[in-house]
Amino acid sequence: MRVNIGVDVGGTKIAAGAVDDNGEILALVRKPTPASSSDAVADTIGECVKELAGSYDVEAIGIGAAGFVDRERTTVVFAPNLAWRNEPLAEKVSQATGHRVVVENDANAAAWGEFKYGAASEHSSAVVVTVGTGIGGGIIVDGALLRGAGGFAGEIGHIVVNPGGQRCGCGVLGCWEAQASGTALVRIARQLAADSPVYGARMLKLAGDREITGLDVTRAAQADDPAALECFAEIAEWIGIGMATLSAAIDPDVFVLAGGVSESGDLLAVPARASFEKSLTAKEFRPAPLVKIATLGNNAGIIGAADLARR
Ligand SMILES: [Zn+2]
Repeated sequence: MRVNIGVDVGGTKIAAGAVDDNGEILALVRKPTPASSSDAVADTIGECVKELAGSYDVEAIGIGAAGFVDRERTTVVFAPNLAWRNEPLAEKVSQATGHRVVVENDANAAAWGEFKYGAASEHSSAVVVTVGTGIGGGIIVDGALLRGAGGFAGEIGHIVVNPGGQRCGCGVLGCWEAQASGTALVRIARQLAADSPVYGARMLKLAGDREITGLDVTRAAQADDPAALECFAEIAEWIGIGMATLSAAIDPDVFVLAGGVSESGDLLAVPARASFEKSLTAKEFRPAPLVKIATLGNNAGIIGAADLARR
């Protein structure tokens, strides 16, 4: 059977899947990401591909990599968490496997997966907002992935939503991911519990001897704990403001909330949608873009990378 192989290269593991023309993953291989060298990462990707290629007729390989990928979709210019500087990843994996290789930023690949086969599949312009440790994402305009002049578009976590606000890992104050990521949610919850252990009692009880985690906040919020709901409301407010900003520039049909924090579902989506509709420009004269929760989960990157490799 003819497939494309999608590879998701993360900081700790490499996941590769044989994906058919309907976006279904037929087989999956996972290996730890070698920390030793960039060559070792390319070799491990090659091993994953060879394990899958034994059972299928492979058309091409798509790789989603956490980093800046050049416009030609062959080279990882820079990766914050891996030893890649101007890494010719497509050439290395192509030599190791004998197949054509396309490289894309991992968040762009996951966004493409949701656009083709997931929550945005019935729409033509979409912004996928991946809310996890940080905020990543991808932008699809009129059916095409927005890549930009250098191939670096879609780094939406670093739009400034709150000038002078929280310090971002990038150094700037008030970036979207500093205000509204899973990391921000945990920071807000811990601060709230420190300021008022009585109000934060439910989250503190769930945490026990350790510090409050995102899961504790979610569990407490699911049980209607007002303190935990307030933490969600704060990040949702910022998520809505960021979506309104992006809407003014891009005018998508739909925003798809993906990533670990989105697994809380309506706890995030309902207040984020309310904040978004409040901040949306010219809202009296336009239908508001939809706000949906992603449907492909962790497989979006594999499915999207495989599809991007398709001719
Ligand atoms: Zn930033």
